[in-house]
Amino acid sequence: MTEIVVAGAGIGGLAAALGLAAAGHRVVVCERNADFTELGAGIQLAPNGLHALAALGLSDEVRRIAVPVGELRFMDGVSGAHVVSMPLDERYRARFGNPYVVVHRGELYRLLLDACRGERRIVLRPASPVHGYAPEGDRVRVRLGTGRELVADALIGADGLHSTVRAQLVGDGEPRTAGITVYRSIVPVERVPGELRSRSVTWWAGPGRHFVHYPIAGGRYLNLAPSAENRPAGTFSGRPVAASEVQEEFAALCPGARRLLRLGTEWRAWVLVDREPVAVWTDGRVALLGDAAHPMLHYAAQGACLALEDAVVLAGLLRCAPERIGARLLRYNAVRRGRTARVHRLARASIGLWHARDEAARARNAALGAMSAGDLHTYVAWLHGERDFDTGGGGEPEPGGAARRAVAAADAE
Ligand SMILES: Cc1cc2nc3c(=O)[nH]c(=O)nc-3n(C[C@H](O)[C@H](O)[C@H](O)COP(=O)(O)OP(=O)(O)OC[C@H]3O[C@@H](n4cnc5c(N)ncnc54)[C@H](O)[C@@H]3O)c2cc1C
Repeated sequence: MTEIVVAGAGIGGLAAALGLAAAGHRVVVCERNADFTELGAGIQLAPNGLHALAALGLSDEVRRIAVPVGELRFMDGVSGAHVVSMPLDERYRARFGNPYVVVHRGELYRLLLDACRGERRIVLRPASPVHGYAPEGDRVRVRLGTGRELVADALIGADGLHSTVRAQLVGDGEPRTAGITVYRSIVPVERVPGELRSRSVTWWAGPGRHFVHYPIAGGRYLNLAPSAENRPAGTFSGRPVAASEVQEEFAALCPGARRLLRLGTEWRAWVLVDREPVAVWTDGRVALLGDAAHPMLHYAAQGACLALEDAVVLAGLLRCAPERIGARLLRYNAVRRGRTARVHRLARASIGLWHARDEAARARNAALGAMSAGDLHTYVAWLHGERDFDTGGGGEPEPGGAARRAVAAADAE
């Protein structure tokens, strides 16, 4: 039986392990941390993320923890005016084949972890940081921080933004800071006044800052995530910050937005970073996946969805004889890079749109406000509607076919 090592037990690594095990491989997941946990609050999953979870056999499980979102609502954060809403209604669900949902990050993680624990082909190794790799004939030798070495048919680097596997494979240094801090807090819904509760994901766009909030954990909590272009010094991740700092940072927003922000307690802050997209993230029997391959700003709310898509595409392509693995990893890289780079650009471009000032903000509001529900659905079709995971975007979903064509092309090479 072929053996594949996955570096990193994040959402991407666990999803890859599940897919690869279903494809018949034995999978060893090496996680640097001593236990398997995922920090953070809410996560939005568009239909493409749910399609990927369904392909991994987790459709029913994710539905149990998911809160369907009623609309994506865009507000002018200064005037408090409603600009536009994208309904995530029956038309949206029919067009894209799944709802748009929010889940608690820890619950999604637990679901993937339990599925891995229930799969006899998967071995989970905590406290096993991957330190490097070297080719070993037509296999790969994986060096762990524990001093152990594993020889496998492939290594999948799913070790996140600061990936050690990427450092060796791409070598592009430290991530690039976006000059933005995102603050996060979750609030029990009982503390949210009735008139401020909704089933929407809501954006309040302001000059150089914006504020997003949505319900999570079956609607029991409200997830608050304001961001500000405040050029933070250094990089930090999950740093506790005083509520007063958040209030001051968003003082320019309208009373409705500020009322919600005042509900937040135990705020934490992250510096936003990403990396320039690269064309090649494969090296012989080694490939990257998820944030290790294409780390992006979270403004498209797609990083985890893309990691799940990566896992499904990779597992589909690695249903092959061991001698074809290298070619299939190249094919995986080729079919994923266009789509992931496009989402990366969208996430970056969102800053200009959401943080616009004065005339630019008025022009944005006018343009968005003129869009119908159908226009908005068409606008996101390439992003939310992907269900074949490898068309590279740029059109309506094309169920079935493309993955098989990619495999055929790889075989023909
Ligand atoms: C504020 C915020 C909000 C977001 N919201 C959304 C959203 O709404 N929807 C969405 O789809 N995405 C969202 N994302 C993006 C999403 O969280 C990430 O893209 C996703 O979690 C990436 O998963 P991953 O498994 O690739 O990486 P990670 O989650 O970073 O996992 C990497 C794992 O590898 C381990 N590791 C690291 N180095 C090593 C090593 N050398 N050896 C072994 N193990 C190692 C780590 O401990 C970790 O367990 C958001 C991100 C942020 C920051």
